[in-house]
Amino acid sequence: LHTVIKSIPLRLPPLPTIRDLLRIYKINAQKHLSQNFLLEPRLIEKIAKASGIKSKGLGGTYAVEVGPGPGGIAREMLHSGVEQVAVIEKDPRFLPSLQMLEEASKGRLKILVGDVMSFDMSRLFPDELKRDWEEGETCIDWNMPSKAEYEEENPKLEKKWRYHKVKGRVPLIHVVGNLPFNISTPLIIRWMRDISERKNIWEYGRVPMTLTFQKEVAERIVAAPGEEQRCRLSVMCQNWCYVDYKFTIRGSAFVPKPKVDVGVVRFVPRPEPLIPLPFSLVEKVVRTLFSSRRKHIKYPAAFLFPPGRGGEKATLPSRDDLVNELIGLSEVNSTARAYGLSVEEFGRICKSYLQMCQRYDKLEDYNYRSPKMKDVCIDEPIDEEALEEKW
Ligand code: SAM
Repeated sequence: LHTVIKSIPLRLPPLPTIRDLLRIYKINAQKHLSQNFLLEPRLIEKIAKASGIKSKGLGGTYAVEVGPGPGGIAREMLHSGVEQVAVIEKDPRFLPSLQMLEEASKGRLKILVGDVMSFDMSRLFPDELKRDWEEGETCIDWNMPSKAEYEEENPKLEKKWRYHKVKGRVPLIHVVGNLPFNISTPLIIRWMRDISERKNIWEYGRVPMTLTFQKEVAERIVAAPGEEQRCRLSVMCQNWCYVDYKFTIRGSAFVPKPKVDVGVVRFVPRPEPLIPLPFSLVEKVVRTLFSSRRKHIKYPAAFLFPPGRGGEKATLPSRDDLVNELIGLSEVNSTARAYGLSVEEFGRICKSYLQMCQRYDKLEDYNYRSPKMKDVCIDEPIDEEALEEKW
């Protein structure tokens, strides 16, 4: 009987529409919190579905929603039977509408007011929900070799590269969020670090995430080697996660309407990263090599080493010699360009750089930062928001 009761979706009583809630509580969008509300039920449902959340009967499914605003997505997830939804919202003006949902769901909604950038999600749910890191989804690595090559070999690409296998039990927790544009890139990078250290919500196992981004940022996240949008965000995200561009939502579906369209991306942490090295080392190498994404990598690679001519009294060989040593050890073509390199090639460069850091004292601490070094992902920023999304 217990199983039967649990497997029936826990429907919610009728509630005012999200549009009405915004009107009732006189909530106008705040630009500094990147508030763009999604009011179309069909699209809200599509995001919840894309996350893979569905009622699983006994044991249930749990979710964390980032930036719930008036609660449209959280409501949809509760409605479809998710056992508990924890929401993290910075703006307390949404408390009354979220509390209404908390009551209607008989406590299945957990409201947390705070800044997701510093929020520790590692104690949100009971320990029984923890899974071994190896358990969960594994996907076909469509990004290696390049997506174009894969497409050629697999005409039915669409179906194929979304295919995934589940090993052991699936993680019970999902992270979902229509993210504020102004924090989406720094947040995803912070979460890649957390995934690499298996902390925060990833103490529960390989918890997948379904998140929205400015469309151009979403395209960068999934870009394959050689593609125009390929940048360090692509390499960092693809190293620790399988990434899947789910669908695009046109800007006009949001209130107020942003200047850009939105891309929905699903991330599944990999059982093993493609580059099994510390986050800070990978980040330093990838950031430096993408500082001039179109130049032969030997040029940006120079910034991994301190300037100097070498010589007898010098503690280090010259910068040119160090670059040649790095390229030689990594066995990559010195005329390759950062945006054309696969994650595996970045991995060889990172590994060689680590070996050199072990051989040459203080190299590891060397960090070249200059105002000249561009800090955006691609040469031409797409619009002002792309500039704001530096990391
Ligand atoms: N989920 C709602 C929807 O789809 O209509 C609102 C999405 S709106 C793009 C982003 C939401 O994130 C807003 O509710 C905003 O207040 C909230 N937010 C902004 N910065 C935040 C932060 N640092 N931590 C938590 N929530 C934040």
